[in-house]
Amino acid sequence: MPDYLVVLDIPSIKQYVFMTHKLKEIQGASIILDKLNRIDFYKQLATYLPSKKIDPIYANGGSAMFVVSDMEEVPLQMALAALEGHVKRVTCGGASIVWGLSEYKNDFNLEIKIAHFDLSIKRHQSVPAESIFHSPFSKECDSCSRLVAISDIDEDWLCPVCKTKRDFSSQRTGIWQEFNNYLSQKFNLKNPANRPTDFSEIGKACDGDFLAIVYADGNSIGRLIREINTKKRFKNFAQVIDSSIKLACFDALTKIFLNIIEQEGNGNISFPADILLLGGDDLLVALPGDKALSFAYNASIIFESLTKKFFTETKDNFFNEKLGGMGSTISFGIALGKSHYPFRVLLSQAEELLRCAKIAGSQDPDAKDFYIPSYLDFHLSSQSHQLNIPHIREIDYSFERNIGEGTLKYSRTFRPYKTQDLKKLFDVASNLKAINFPKTKLNGLYRAAMENRSQSMLETIRIATRCKEGERKVLLEALELFDCRETMPWSPGNRTFVTELVEFYEFMS
Ligand SMILES: [Zn+2]
Repeated sequence: MPDYLVVLDIPSIKQYVFMTHKLKEIQGASIILDKLNRIDFYKQLATYLPSKKIDPIYANGGSAMFVVSDMEEVPLQMALAALEGHVKRVTCGGASIVWGLSEYKNDFNLEIKIAHFDLSIKRHQSVPAESIFHSPFSKECDSCSRLVAISDIDEDWLCPVCKTKRDFSSQRTGIWQEFNNYLSQKFNLKNPANRPTDFSEIGKACDGDFLAIVYADGNSIGRLIREINTKKRFKNFAQVIDSSIKLACFDALTKIFLNIIEQEGNGNISFPADILLLGGDDLLVALPGDKALSFAYNASIIFESLTKKFFTETKDNFFNEKLGGMGSTISFGIALGKSHYPFRVLLSQAEELLRCAKIAGSQDPDAKDFYIPSYLDFHLSSQSHQLNIPHIREIDYSFERNIGEGTLKYSRTFRPYKTQDLKKLFDVASNLKAINFPKTKLNGLYRAAMENRSQSMLETIRIATRCKEGERKVLLEALELFDCRETMPWSPGNRTFVTELVEFYEFMS
């Protein structure tokens, strides 16, 4: 009997997790998916097929791959259909799976492509997961407003999908539990860390009540995966990426909250942060506004060094060659807003910012073959009626100046930042804070940067002249660091860093 390569996927995973914007339901959805994906996929298949014939290659981030050996296609398809039924049952129809098959012979690379092609056809044929009769007389769910409410929990009338998520949110499994295991090992904590129950708890930990949604994703991981030509290599790679992103996230969280861990010790630690999704090369975290940049910076460095260490030390030189001796990298989109700001707006801005960061990374001069430097992009939502990031950057952060026959484009920001360059911005903020640089002058610099070229130059020079000697020294050093001193506040490439410096001044700690 033939062997089969099976690829599985939970389509629209984010749509399921973020169908509602209540933190408890997001936590529950994340726990459900994590358990289905990492545990139940294999366990369910093993109830219908002999377990010794199933070889799991990977299972995370809502996807999975197995090799099932010595098997007819019909019982395999039946087992997969039974797994599909299980996923629908557990999520009350909120999520489902699709799968693709390919005979597994001796061309792993080609067989993966065939299985994924099969999967993509099924994905297009699949119908939206949930569909419940909704009459004008039925009560709709207080949370998702899409399905019929069936039960009353904490004074909310909920549909089965939202109720299941709410029920699962208190379970001590999933990624938060893994974080707790990591904490108890590393810091010898007796009590597990409490998870926040809503986004306002996270925002409150930052002066001014700012919440950040941080979205990260691996750079050119998909492209690299398509090059992998053996099962063993694939297994190793998936394992390295998954464990590295997890460890990078946990390490970065403990770094930025070390004071809380040390202060609370063996009491009950309440982290003002949450890991909303983590798996594969994807990471989505909610943090207090003033911790987000620092978290992303640390997580990026840790991830790259962990993967680099593995790829250079392992006997197999495949990844080391593909990456030119470097590690894999992740890029970040960071959206900040008041914690009562609509979550869906912050989430979609974080997604857009991540896209901007990835594009900038791929255009970086250091990008080579499969190595793309880590970039991050960040934005603070104000009362602006604009929501779309590229649009905001075009309207508010750039202008053109006529010069003779043509025009010169000016950008009032250096964003997206190469992650390693973010340190410059932190250094500038920290030097200015160290001498108590007056806020009025900072705001003056910001207003100047929002003017046209000549007006902004005049105004910046005027502020620099009026500074006390010590203030002027630090300001000029800051401008120098970004190559913006000569034609202050503009760099030779017609950009300035002043807007992000002032907007994020209080968020750089
Ligand atoms: Zn609902």
